[in-house]
Amino acid sequence: MPNSRRTHLLEWLCEHKRATIDALSEQFGVSGMTIHRDLAELAKTGKIRKVHGGVVWVDEASAPSPSPSPDGKCEMCGVAASRMPFIIRRTDGQTHTACCAHCGLMMLMSTEGVASVLTTDFLYGRTVSARSAAYVVGSGVHLCCAPSVLSFASADDAERFARGFGGTVMAYDEALAALRHHA
Ligand SMILES: [Zn+2]
Ligand SMILES: [Zn+2]
Repeated sequence: MPNSRRTHLLEWLCEHKRATIDALSEQFGVSGMTIHRDLAELAKTGKIRKVHGGVVWVDEASAPSPSPSPDGKCEMCGVAASRMPFIIRRTDGQTHTACCAHCGLMMLMSTEGVASVLTTDFLYGRTVSARSAAYVVGSGVHLCCAPSVLSFASADDAERFARGFGGTVMAYDEALAALRHHA
């Protein structure tokens, strides 16, 4: 019963936060190969991330600020990573970091197998889910890239910001479409 095992696996990982493949194989009485396949499926939910020889639980709400890419540069435009990173996690466990939501959304268009997408709330510097964030596109405040795209966890904050600094408030899909058009 792969599905009920996967559910148990997910619950188990939620509780224990991390595990090695070997330990899981022993715990669930199946081969390491089977655990591998289960984890690959579960990684698509964005709840877990495969790491070398094991797996870690991904808690978006309480995750520490994401680390910048290995060389600290935006993978899209090459500027030094900013305080407002945009992070794409892929189902294969790879992570891509962009300097801002502008580059992040552009990068998203050419990224396959996206598991989860995180952005940084402009007002509070908190890491939030990019899919549920609101964006202010083309305001007078420029982080690094043009047109400027700022992320807000709350649509109310985004509206208030746009009233003061200009720009258009957009949902995730709208911001993506706007940038696609711009590109
Ligand atoms: Zn960039
Ligand atoms: Zn940028």
